[in-house]
Amino acid sequence: MKNLSFLLASMPLIVAASPASTPQKIADDVSQQSLRSIVERLVSFGTRHTLSSQTDPKRGIGAALRWTEQEFRRYGQACGGCLTVATPSDVVTGRRVPTPTKVTNVLAIQRGTTDPNRVVIISGHIDSRVTDVMNAAADAPGANDDGSGTAAVIEAARVLSRHKFPATIVYAALSGEEQGLLGGKILADYAKAQGWEVIANLNNDIIGNSCGSDGYCDAAHVRVFSEGPRWQGREALAARQRSLGGENDSPSRNLSRYMDRLAEDLGLGLEVRQIWRNDRFGRGGDHTELLNAGYPAIRLTVAVENYNYQHQDLRVENGIQYGDTVDKMDFPYLRKVTQLNVAALAALASAPAIPAPSVEGGVSTNTTLTWEPVRGAAFYVVRWRPTDASNWQHSLRVARANGLESIDAPRTAGATGPVGRRHRAVLQGVRVDDWVFGVSAVSPDGHETPVASAVPGGAFRPYTPPPAQ
Ligand SMILES: [Zn+2]
Repeated sequence: MKNLSFLLASMPLIVAASPASTPQKIADDVSQQSLRSIVERLVSFGTRHTLSSQTDPKRGIGAALRWTEQEFRRYGQACGGCLTVATPSDVVTGRRVPTPTKVTNVLAIQRGTTDPNRVVIISGHIDSRVTDVMNAAADAPGANDDGSGTAAVIEAARVLSRHKFPATIVYAALSGEEQGLLGGKILADYAKAQGWEVIANLNNDIIGNSCGSDGYCDAAHVRVFSEGPRWQGREALAARQRSLGGENDSPSRNLSRYMDRLAEDLGLGLEVRQIWRNDRFGRGGDHTELLNAGYPAIRLTVAVENYNYQHQDLRVENGIQYGDTVDKMDFPYLRKVTQLNVAALAALASAPAIPAPSVEGGVSTNTTLTWEPVRGAAFYVVRWRPTDASNWQHSLRVARANGLESIDAPRTAGATGPVGRRHRAVLQGVRVDDWVFGVSAVSPDGHETPVASAVPGGAFRPYTPPPAQ
């Protein structure tokens, strides 16, 4: 390889100009006590089953949703109206919803200062259940599943609403997960109707325990699940993917790699264990509905699940306790996972838009990457790795002063940059066949985007096939 004098061994994700506002510093404000009191409050509604009362002032899903809305409004007032509350809903009938039922999400929207249409979403599901998924009457505390994820959402709103970000952050408490990912679908539809460019959904579902029923414990890892081959657009992608690759380079997979690296930089004593499948074996979560709509989405969940505590009637059987109660949670662990979320939201909302590169170089000794300029980029980093390597191994920092040219080129489908202008970087002596390539953008104050792979469907937006030639 030649001309790689700008090779970077390892560039940290966060190099902010002002130490007071780094994602790490912001995440320090996440409070264990605050998370505990949110979970306890959620449990106090008795049940938050989607088919429970919507009108009872104290018990049921309605009371829980109204309380969440009040919390968002309270934080919104404290920041001078920086949060807009929305309650998108749908009347649903389905396999687990026998009669038409209104299913409502509660969202707080923190509008970005310069790039408000670019959106990052943190979500958790507020609904709960017991053994029988149709039992809306029994106590269903749902402390960990998913009081923990909902607490992370509400605490993230409290902490991040004290700061301003170029892009928009959406805090989403979703209903109807246990009845069939209903709230995830309502959120995806809402995002589409608003015309949001959703670059990431961090879905948190069961993030507050660290020991399994067999006594095995792990409080040092959080699992991040991501889809491999992109589901949305798969029919249109299949032939191009077979020819050009990309089975391991969906935007969600690159979001997973980004979270892994961010966790290393943060030094929280919490590492990401990337799980390269969409969700746990045969099970699901709300991020799946965001993926169905073409939005990059991952699920964060504990390293070790405890099956005695999930989806269980409260009881003691043969001396074993069952049920999802507060006393079984690990709040120091929940704090770490929430800190990772908060830092990721701050970093993603501070970074530029994410490039959407293409690569050429078949039957050539060089590889050429091109992409449309993105808003807010001071420079770009071209990355590559062997096709069987799990993470990026080589990188080249390119800016106008080095390695980066601007060329006239036809506008690509779905691109947002100035018409007809593309950036180009040429890697001399790098043969395209043996590598996967990607590009990230870095803001003037050092915030780097996730890497978008130069593969079919690699861009952080819904896949649309290129126009026929
Ligand atoms: Zn759940």
